[in-house]
Amino acid sequence: MCETRDNEIDTEMNSCDQVMELAGDYVDNELSAEKKVIFLKHLESCPTCTAFIASYSHVVETAHALGEANCKPLDVGVQNRLRGALNRRLGIALPYLD
Ligand SMILES: [Zn+2]
Repeated sequence: MCETRDNEIDTEMNSCDQVMELAGDYVDNELSAEKKVIFLKHLESCPTCTAFIASYSHVVETAHALGEANCKPLDVGVQNRLRGALNRRLGIALPYLD
């Protein structure tokens, strides 16, 4: 259930995985004010996530600049390849999609 996951993230965000999971919401400015504070606090102390968010934002901005009309959601296989590449490159552990 989504509610359970939200509660777990509420007060602590020590793990990079949690930050990665929220990256999309952060870039789309959909995080609650509370979560955003915790999120940014983690970034302050974590160069890996800072670098990840920087490249992630760049990708999202570029995609927007290209225009929504030409963009459809990435195929899950492609997304997983991308996640694998990021994991190796940044030494992180993004979860793979089903
Ligand atoms: Zn981190």
